[in-house]
Amino acid sequence: MTRIYPQIVVAKFGGTSVADYDAMNRSATLVLADDAVRLVVLSASAGVTNLLVELAAGLESHERLDKIDTLRAIQYNIISHLKQQDAIRQEIDHLLENISQLALSAADERSAALSDALVSHGELMSTLLFVEVLRERHVETQWFDARKVIRTNSEFGCAEPQVASIEDLAEKQLRPRIEQALLVTQGFIGSDAKGQTTTLGRGGSDYSAALFGEALHATRVDIWTDVAGIYTTDPRIVPQAQRMDRVSFSEASEMATFGAKVLHPATMLPAMRKDIPVFVGSSKNPAAGGTLVCRHAENPPRYRALAIRRKLTLLKLHSLNTQPACGFLAEMFAVLSRHNTSLDLVTTSETSIALILNSSSATSGDADTLTTSLLTELSSRCRVELETGLDLVTLIGNELTQVSGVCKDVFTELDKHHVRMICHGASDHTLCFLLPAESSDSAIKTLHRSLFE
Ligand code: ADP
Ligand code: ASP
Ligand code: MG
Repeated sequence: MTRIYPQIVVAKFGGTSVADYDAMNRSATLVLADDAVRLVVLSASAGVTNLLVELAAGLESHERLDKIDTLRAIQYNIISHLKQQDAIRQEIDHLLENISQLALSAADERSAALSDALVSHGELMSTLLFVEVLRERHVETQWFDARKVIRTNSEFGCAEPQVASIEDLAEKQLRPRIEQALLVTQGFIGSDAKGQTTTLGRGGSDYSAALFGEALHATRVDIWTDVAGIYTTDPRIVPQAQRMDRVSFSEASEMATFGAKVLHPATMLPAMRKDIPVFVGSSKNPAAGGTLVCRHAENPPRYRALAIRRKLTLLKLHSLNTQPACGFLAEMFAVLSRHNTSLDLVTTSETSIALILNSSSATSGDADTLTTSLLTELSSRCRVELETGLDLVTLIGNELTQVSGVCKDVFTELDKHHVRMICHGASDHTLCFLLPAESSDSAIKTLHRSLFE
């Protein structure tokens, strides 16, 4: 039966929300609880993408077979709870066979395109299984291949979506189907102009959901995960962290950019463009409520949250001239730009520059920004020092550069910590500093206690 749906909600479920049959069943209950949910976007079941990324790196035969056995066990475990098992088992077996062949090719020769083709199988499998779970609950459901709509460039591992094409494809391919059945599709994956499979970078299913929401002019995008919303910091580090009921797009975006894994950093871009609220809640405990991310949050507080990004490298470049080197900054940035290196944070003195390079979250290991050729070129022009094992802690807030006392509030608490670099002033919303990895959790706990509890 064709029905016109004036309101469309896109619901995305992350890896833990589709980890096994029980989790899938809970997620199915949430889908069915809201008539407006017409498109379901899924991640791979928890752990599956990691296994696929390992296979894409090229493994020896016994390790490869081991990983494939583990993958098979996760899928078969879900199938074992279904009433009708034969047809779905055949479909999953077919995908597992593809995985074996692609993993074998990856062991011979790695390529970013092959890696994406392989890694995409996690979402292909979880969506096929979820369709069966919904069908067993008597819901008219169709599986939809996200690659028909999520058009991207060919930057495998971290592909850039092409928004105009996505809107066009969604109008042609998706909207007519949405009016006929509930659709289940994959997060994280897309395809380039040649039809090759691409991925949006680790954690990219949130971004997919927002892109689908944008293309369908959705009234809301729901992100169902393993926490009941966005907290003042990662509740795994600070159990006393408080859930925030409402945050603005820009606050959530800063949090995600600086490491709050609960949302992929690009998720807010489509939501902001079309002013679509994003709800974040726990699929395990929906009654606990969640966080609504929208254009404006009322009475934004001075201090909003703390975020952390781990395992960063500090690159220090010292001019070979002891006198202030005119043009040193320009020369170094030109080198970085020639090597396509994007920077996260920078501080400078007269003759030195300290930089944190953008730590890519791409699926293929080829995206390492600190390449040998970059280091060789830099070393021929200046003295290069590298410091590893650092974490970046960020305080996210509002009008942080407009008032006095912010640095005192932060650094008085950290007098026992060895702060390696500070970035403050360029953004009104963030104050970041770099710490040795072994002390970053304790710094977050201390700061959370003094600023939020
Ligand atoms: P999913 O698989 O559902 O996409 P993720 O693991 O990507 O889930 O994101 C959820 C995790 O994000 C939580 O388990 C939590 O540890 C982490 N996290 C980090 N910062 C925050 C924060 N500020 N609020 C809530 N969760 C956070
Ligand atoms: N499955 C992908 C990952 O683990 C995408 C996602 O879960 O958002 O990175
Ligand atoms: Mg995630």
